[in-house]
Amino acid sequence: MFVTNDVTVVGAGPVGLLLAAELALSGATVRVLERRDEPDKAMKAQSINVPTAGVLDRRGLLPAAEQVHREVVERMGSVVGASRFTGHFAGVVLDPGKVDWADPDLAAYASADRARLVPQPQLVSLLTGHLARLGVQVRRGVEVTSLEDTGDGVLVGTSAGTIRTGWLVGCDGGHSTVRRLAGIDFPGTDPEMTGYQAIADIADPGQLADGWTWSERGAYRYGPQPGRIATVEFDGGPADRSARVTLEDVQASLRRVSGTDVTLTALRGEPTRWTDNTRQAATYRSGRVFLAGDAAHVHPPFGGQGLNLGVGDAVNLGWKLGAVIAGWAPEDLLDTYDAERRPLGAWVLDWTRAQIGVLRGDPKSAALRQVVADLLGTRDGTTYAVKMISGVTQRTDLPGDHPLVGRFLPDLALADGTRLADHAHGGGFLLLDRTPDGAFTRLAAPWGKRVTVVADDQATPVGVLVRPDGVIAWATGATGADGLETALRRWAGAPGS
Ligand SMILES: Cc1cc2nc3c(=O)[nH]c(=O)nc-3n(C[C@H](O)[C@H](O)[C@H](O)COP(=O)(O)OP(=O)(O)OC[C@H]3O[C@@H](n4cnc5c(N)ncnc54)[C@H](O)[C@@H]3O)c2cc1C
Repeated sequence: MFVTNDVTVVGAGPVGLLLAAELALSGATVRVLERRDEPDKAMKAQSINVPTAGVLDRRGLLPAAEQVHREVVERMGSVVGASRFTGHFAGVVLDPGKVDWADPDLAAYASADRARLVPQPQLVSLLTGHLARLGVQVRRGVEVTSLEDTGDGVLVGTSAGTIRTGWLVGCDGGHSTVRRLAGIDFPGTDPEMTGYQAIADIADPGQLADGWTWSERGAYRYGPQPGRIATVEFDGGPADRSARVTLEDVQASLRRVSGTDVTLTALRGEPTRWTDNTRQAATYRSGRVFLAGDAAHVHPPFGGQGLNLGVGDAVNLGWKLGAVIAGWAPEDLLDTYDAERRPLGAWVLDWTRAQIGVLRGDPKSAALRQVVADLLGTRDGTTYAVKMISGVTQRTDLPGDHPLVGRFLPDLALADGTRLADHAHGGGFLLLDRTPDGAFTRLAAPWGKRVTVVADDQATPVGVLVRPDGVIAWATGATGADGLETALRRWAGAPGS
């Protein structure tokens, strides 16, 4: 096999699939290689945060995701009847009743208070369908085993032969082969705990307390749906992280952390094991090779951040690589991928590391946990944590004074009953023009189809330029176009090119 295409994406997890779709939207030819014969059904992410919902919304996929959420809620029955957003910090559950939903960051995203329970396998299935509609099929059963960056492309050795590709993106998870082959370091902190997540049939569930329970060995969570168990055990980390998880593993861990002799009779679905191995790639790019998602960063799953972080990587890299391939952006645009995504990744690593410190079973950590619980039990504390976990405070460091610059697109309703996000399904830039004489529209005309202009006669903000990844690159509350041309040239390339 010796094929040339623009980009080869390694891994058909949620990040690889979304990245491939963004590249296809930009017009690049893309190939996705996945070593598994079938999609991964393991229990991993159970929900999506607000920025991820925004990504799905802008690509017209949110209604399907919300249908998945409704089906999940129906299956859970009354357990989570009121599906308001909630979350936890190191097992300290955040009470939605204590959140100041009028806080400007939360209010900007009207549905920020809504939980969206979209389990990872269903999200993968939804993204696979999206990608197929864009004409890209996943090549399953193909494992990447070697790579050589030749300066003008990459030779990729696979279990099905050698491929030549313009660019290679490793979306191949925490144990990334691409990261190793590219010689990219993965510094961070070693694991000190083992966690399990499973849905089990339990002979004597009365032995378990609902919610989070801590002990000297760690903690466990039981519920909210029947049989759902998570354990956290400070045992120095598992001897073999990739060994298959058995019923005996989960039961033994649960018995140790709960101090009971609870008996599990069967496991439903595929249980998972995780650790607090916390690392970030030294660089997200080496020549023609990029990393995205878990290949670029790993951390414990507390607070449900990992998948969402990877989704943000995918949409950030997708349009930039597509623009360079299409020829309208200079190659240095690609350097902004690492610069923009690294700080957010570093924050997630520390947010989850902090929870390990609070979760340990020793008396000092238990005392710290009480202090944290007291603080997070206040209205300000709960609001702060919910803002962090939901992702509404996420901001990319971009030049510009307007408070919207650097944020991801909030809910912007238009006079015709649509929202600005409804106009983003095809990718590309969006320019909202609310000037009475169409001044912004005229200014953006030389950028042609790269910028979709949406005219509207609502009051404020008067103008907004949204990048294809949903990040606001320019905004104004006045009719003057100051800064618009600079922002267009910076992000959308030279006019007419
Ligand atoms: C127990 C648990 C709970 C979690 N809970 C949450 C949560 O609530 N919220 C959240 O946001 N995140 C959560 N996460 C994290 C989330 O699951 C990951 O961040 C997410 O799977 C990352 O997606 P990815 O596409 O980067 O990698 P993956 O999903 O790992 O996909 C990588 C793909 O690459 C393939 N691959 C690997 N090597 C090769 C190769 N050499 N050649 C070809 N293919 C290859 C793999 O088979 C795999 O399909 C959780 C994780 C765990 C383990």
